[in-house]
Order: sequence, then C-alpha cells, then structure tokens
Amino acid sequence: MPTITQLTAREVLDSRGFPTVEAEIQLTHEGKVTRGRAIVPSGASTGEAEALELRDGDQKRYLGKGVKKAVSNIREHLGPSLRGKKLHDQMEVDAALIQLDNTENKSNLGANALLAVSLAFARAQAELENLPLFMSLAKAYETQGVTLPVPLMNIVNGGKHADNGLAIQEFMIVPAGLPKFSEALRAGAEVFHHLKKILHDRNLSTGVGDEGGFAPVLGGAEPHEEVIRTIMTAIEAAGYTPGKDIFLALDCAASEFVDKNATTQNADGSANVFYSFEGKLRTSQEMITLYKGWVEKYPILSIEDGLSEHDWNGWEELTRTLGKSCQLVGDDLFVTNPKFLQQGIDKKVANSILIKVNQIGTLTETLETMKMAGAAGYTQISSHRSGESEDTFIADLAVGTDCGQIKTGSASRTDRIAKYNQLLRIEEILGSRAVYLGLKAFKR
Ligand code: PGA
Ligand code: ZN
Repeated sequence: MPTITQLTAREVLDSRGFPTVEAEIQLTHEGKVTRGRAIVPSGASTGEAEALELRDGDQKRYLGKGVKKAVSNIREHLGPSLRGKKLHDQMEVDAALIQLDNTENKSNLGANALLAVSLAFARAQAELENLPLFMSLAKAYETQGVTLPVPLMNIVNGGKHADNGLAIQEFMIVPAGLPKFSEALRAGAEVFHHLKKILHDRNLSTGVGDEGGFAPVLGGAEPHEEVIRTIMTAIEAAGYTPGKDIFLALDCAASEFVDKNATTQNADGSANVFYSFEGKLRTSQEMITLYKGWVEKYPILSIEDGLSEHDWNGWEELTRTLGKSCQLVGDDLFVTNPKFLQQGIDKKVANSILIKVNQIGTLTETLETMKMAGAAGYTQISSHRSGESEDTFIADLAVGTDCGQIKTGSASRTDRIAKYNQLLRIEEILGSRAVYLGLKAFKR
C-alpha cells in the first residue's frame, strides 16, 4: 500500500492563457519513491450540471479567473489530510477526496483541485507499478488496453470557440477508414493542410480557433452546409474518399444557440425548446429534420449535442429518428455523470457519451461512468476541453479503457498535438498488439 508523502499544487496557464491547477504528488512504497503531476483542463461551452470549477473571482487577477483558492485547497487542506495516509488504490484516494469535499458537485474544494490530485495520483501509481500510464489504467479498469482510438479531429471551429458567427461549434473529420492510428492521423493532418489552401485561395481567414481548427467567416444563407461541402472538397483534394477513408462528425453544442426568450417551460417540468439557427427560429423537430437531411447527404458518423441539454423530449425524438444511422453523443446532456447517463439510458436518449474528466472531477467516477455506458451499449469518446495544456492524460485514458474514440482537436496547436503525439508513442510501445477499430469503434 503506497503512502502519500508529498502533495502540492500551483497555478499554471492553460491554452487560452487563463489559470488552471497543476498538482504534484509523491508516493512512497517499500522504499520506492515515485512522483506524478497533472494539469486540469477547462471548458468554455460548459454543461450546467458539471462539477464546479473553483475560480477566485478577484477581478484584479486574471479577470477573476485565478485559481489560488483551488491551489490552496490542495496545499492547505488536501495535502495535510492525505499526507502520511496509506491508500490502497485510486478508488480509495478518490473516495477520500470526495469525502473531504463533501458536496455533490465538488463546490467546496473545487473539482479542479480534486481532479488534479486524482490524476496526479494515477501517474505516480503507474510509476510504482513500473507501467506506462495507459497500461496501469487498463489494469485497474480490467481491460486489455490495446485499442488506439479513432481521432475525431475538429478542423473547423465555430460557436464559443471562434468569432466567425457559426452556431455549430465543431466540424470534425474522422479517418475511420485508415488501417492504423498513425495513418489516420497523417490523413487527418493532410486534409487539414488542404483545407487551409482551399480557404486561402478563397480569400478566407486561415487563423485557428481554440481547438486548432480554422474559423473562416462564411457568408450565404446556409454557412453550416457550406462548411461541410468545403471539408468534403478538402478530403478529396488530399486524395481520400469521403465515406470510405474519411467520415464527418459534428459537435453542435446546441445549448449555446437556444433562443431563451422563445423557449417555454411545460407543466411537467420539461421544456419546449427553440433554437436560433441561420437567422431563423427553429423547433427541435426542425433541427432534427435538418440533421437528418445532412446525414442522408454527407458521410456524417456522429452528432454531439444536436439539441440542448434541457431538451429531453427533443432528444428522445432525435434518437428515434437518427439513433440507428448515426452516433448521437451526449456531452452537455450527460456531463460524464452516471446520474444523467442513467436518465438517458432509461429514456432511450442518445447512444454515446463524451467523457471529460473535469466534468465529474475524479478518475474513479469517470471510469464508473464509462463502465456504465459500455454496459448499456453506449460508445464513449475520451475528450479534451477547449482550454487545454501539455497534459496528455486523456490519450492514455482512451487506450487504457479501450474506448475506441478520442476527440482532441485539430492538427495544430501543441495543446492538441501533445495528445496525438502521446498516442503515436503508445502505438509504438504496443507494436503488433495495437488495435485500430476504425468504423467498428462506432458500432454498438
Ligand atoms: P468545451 O467544448 O470544452 O468548451 O466545453 C468542448 C466540447 O463541447 O466538446
Ligand atoms: Zn461538446
């Protein structure tokens, strides 16, 4: 049983230049000393029910976004409480963290404080076991830990991640038809470069958004379909066949384009949600019809948050309409939380879940949610946040759980590329044991 012999934290910066929490832990076991370090990510289009990210609110520092309180909660509270404690494994550490916080949404000490410690422990534990992180996770999760994920690469950014007026937040390419991860990554990067050239030739901006995708301002009445058509052109220009080598995925993040004034509350507590999309007010049904048209016309494998997290009636209809032909992913809808996922399973809503460690706040709870999803036949996608860092934990998480899919941005910005590079290393470590599921990763 390892003992936590040191635990400390500091304020560092994320990919947007805002503060976030880094924790460092030291474990001692039978004379062996190991260390682990982790940086937590931060979202922009956050789901309302996410665990609480503790910010200082002191407007004189970082526009109120400092995390000194969360850091001092680790240094002054979690450190003294956990130091010298013998802790059996990740589950015991996370149970202790949850107990010390003692709130449902981790609002006392902050999910950013808890998660930094939780992930840092996982790294130090892997060191103790003399295993790469993904293998240590696979051991704890009782999986093989050999599956390289299919990357969902966000090459056009909109919504809250850019200033280009697009309502849909992420337009992704999915190289599921390539034979292995490194080849898929290469194909994705090549499409990214061809897309850059196409945008440049059309005098459109090739500056990138928060997740490393382009953020062009497209005119016309239907700019979203124009983005899809442009990406199709880039796939072909790169020498690939859309729908055979490379597919498409969307993260609509639809909670962000709800028309709050038009939306009404029903007597049973459900909501009658309206969306403001391409200059028109739309019902859930109209959004579903629009997506259905796109799925029939383009090789779209996956749609995330196609409707708002409050639009459960709409989601039921969306799943009935498209659930057989398309992966329907709940991100803001489920917030990596078993409680909301269970609601989804009961109501036959969605068929996939986005996994973001900081939405729930500990590794153990993340793994529990993934297990629950797997048992119900929901696919799982290991995901970054729009605010990231050099930390590559989610890459190891994807392989360690064999979940088969990762969403970690475009082929630019080191905060995104760091995860892809880690997967290249893992592919090399696994050698001939490495598995790339391709399209099968989307089958339930
Ligand atoms: P966020 O966006 O990290 O800003 O919440 C990512 C996503 O919605 O998938
Ligand atoms: Zn999302």
